[in-house]
Amino acid sequence: MGRKTKRCFISDCYVQKDKENKEVVFFSVPSLSLKAWQEVIPKCGLLPTSKLCSRHFEEADVIKGRVIQDIFYPYGRWRLKAGAIPKLLLGTSNGSRSSSANARPKSQSNVV
Ligand SMILES: [Zn+2]
Repeated sequence: MGRKTKRCFISDCYVQKDKENKEVVFFSVPSLSLKAWQEVIPKCGLLPTSKLCSRHFEEADVIKGRVIQDIFYPYGRWRLKAGAIPKLLLGTSNGSRSSSANARPKSQSNVV
């Protein structure tokens, strides 16, 4: 089998783990979004040629196909909505390895 060098830019993201669960799709950085993405991704050095996998985007930001007359036609290649920004599993340095991404506190400044 040929080995692919595709790799997600997010440092904590090991896509290989997921290949049995789910198909992982990669998105390259839209040139208009490069700056915004650099701001939300903790890891430095994001380039226009970098790729992020679909795990970092909310469902609503991924266009998987289109509906024409009540029939869903999936795209061969998923796309991102214009202005979509990665929000999930960005490899924040919050320490906890296996905390679920669903439960995240809204404000971090309430530590007593
Ligand atoms: Zn990833």
